[in-house]
Amino acid sequence: MNVPPVSRLDALIAEQEGLAQIDRETIEAIQLKRLNRLLARERARGGFYRELPERIASLERLSDLPFTTEEDLARHAPSMLLCSQSQIQRVLSDATSGTTGAAKRVFYTEDDLENTVRLYMAGLGELIWPGSVTLICFPFSGPFGLGELIAEAIMRLGARPLKAGPFLSYGGFAALMEKEKPDTFVGMPVQLLGILRFCGRGSLRRALVSGDACPESVVCGCEALLGSKLFPHYGSREMGMAGAICCRAHAGMHLRENHVIAEIVDGNGRVLPAGERGELVVTTIGMEAMPLIRYRTGDYTRILPGPCPCGSETLRLDRIERRTEGLSAAALDEILFADEAVVDCRYTLRAGELAVFALCRGEIDERTLRGRLGAIAPPELSLSARQAAPEDGALYRGKRTLLIDGA
Ligand SMILES: [Zn+2]
Repeated sequence: MNVPPVSRLDALIAEQEGLAQIDRETIEAIQLKRLNRLLARERARGGFYRELPERIASLERLSDLPFTTEEDLARHAPSMLLCSQSQIQRVLSDATSGTTGAAKRVFYTEDDLENTVRLYMAGLGELIWPGSVTLICFPFSGPFGLGELIAEAIMRLGARPLKAGPFLSYGGFAALMEKEKPDTFVGMPVQLLGILRFCGRGSLRRALVSGDACPESVVCGCEALLGSKLFPHYGSREMGMAGAICCRAHAGMHLRENHVIAEIVDGNGRVLPAGERGELVVTTIGMEAMPLIRYRTGDYTRILPGPCPCGSETLRLDRIERRTEGLSAAALDEILFADEAVVDCRYTLRAGELAVFALCRGEIDERTLRGRLGAIAPPELSLSARQAAPEDGALYRGKRTLLIDGA
């Protein structure tokens, strides 16, 4: 049996921490040291967490500390800042999040963003090598934007980024792929599937996907057309858009544990053992500008027990799900994309009625889709479809969701 090479994360952590190699013991020693340094900084600067103990004796005691919520972030972001405004390189703001209506802001220093690029290099280095040409379908929003940071990582790996962004039409992607012959893709999972189903795989052979839920039918559809297993990545703004990367064993995502401590908690906030699914809670000890302690991500997963087949002892996260009340776009995607003719689809809720619109290549199996949708969707359901044209593009510009039509 081929043993996959050890995750490139191990070498990155060893280099960042000045160690020859890492194991569980060294990782946990780094985490405790960095957590205590953070607690001391909070006290010294009178930060948001100033009331917490100045140090804790062991990582087990982390679970004694209170949670931080999305609402805290929306209300108190400025007091969570542990550096001066002049050190801030970038602020990400989300005007629509949370129940407060306030914008959730996350701040980064230059070092924070450098760590992001380094993690991208480790994750992308599993599937991109010198000479690769990589299609980037994340947005390019100016200096230190997500697309820009990914392009920087690709260039440092000696490869060439194609800065396509997410908004090209399918015809635009087909022309770009024909001209530039990318071998790798970086973007959201459904976008990849749409491109593969409309344009064919062309020169594409490998892909890193991130940024949105990744239903099983989408994974299977992409992998069948690409002819290789996907490399999922997990990140959130709170952890600098870079959290966990997939190695060539394709057995979960290795967490950058020198910068993030992960816990999985149940509905009552109790910490669950490895192997059990619950909400992911992160303590971002490696973030310089805005470290968070026990932040509830709203993402559901489990920690995979034991070491990875690649040999790395860094903790691995399983597939991530966003827990939502009632019907979710991810559950609908699971059904729709199981039909190989579906290129993309959009969901609109209007007064309890669900309208599903699909772009197709070939004929969809409407009867089967209606039957399967009927099991989870409201009884008032309309399903319409038309053939995708070269002028069409992705039906969502960001994360996939149920659109509410108040008209
Ligand atoms: Zn591994």
